[in-house]
Amino acid sequence: MAADPNCIFCKIAAGQIPAKKVYEDNEIIAFHDIHPWAPVHILLIPKQHIESMVDVTEADAALLGRMMAISPRLLRDLGVTNGFRHVVNTGRDGLQEVMHLHVHAMGGPRPWLKG
Ligand code: 5GP
Ligand code: ZN
Repeated sequence: MAADPNCIFCKIAAGQIPAKKVYEDNEIIAFHDIHPWAPVHILLIPKQHIESMVDVTEADAALLGRMMAISPRLLRDLGVTNGFRHVVNTGRDGLQEVMHLHVHAMGGPRPWLKG
């Protein structure tokens, strides 16, 4: 599905609701998490509505690879110099709250709120 009209991250990708964007290209957008767990906490999402890792196929490999490849530079540009974490929550038992695939990228000095 290209976009889900009820999906908050589709709305962010479409610019229909505001977000503190740190990166955008034709298929990916990254923005600050509204409730950061760490001093720097951004979310990278595909612009197309993919619900979760359950829906990913090998056709999405380049897209997912780009999301991971872009994030270290974004974190560095935000001042993260001492390591970081990537987290992808999937489904109910994986504690996924927003059903649009996203990669949490977190860094900055500890202590953190979570993670
Ligand atoms: P999940 O539990 O699905 O992996 O994480 C969803 C994340 O999205 C949470 O960390 C939450 O704070 C963040 N989030 C939820 N709604 C919004 C929003 O409207 N804007 C932004 N920037 N982040 C959001
Ligand atoms: Zn969506």
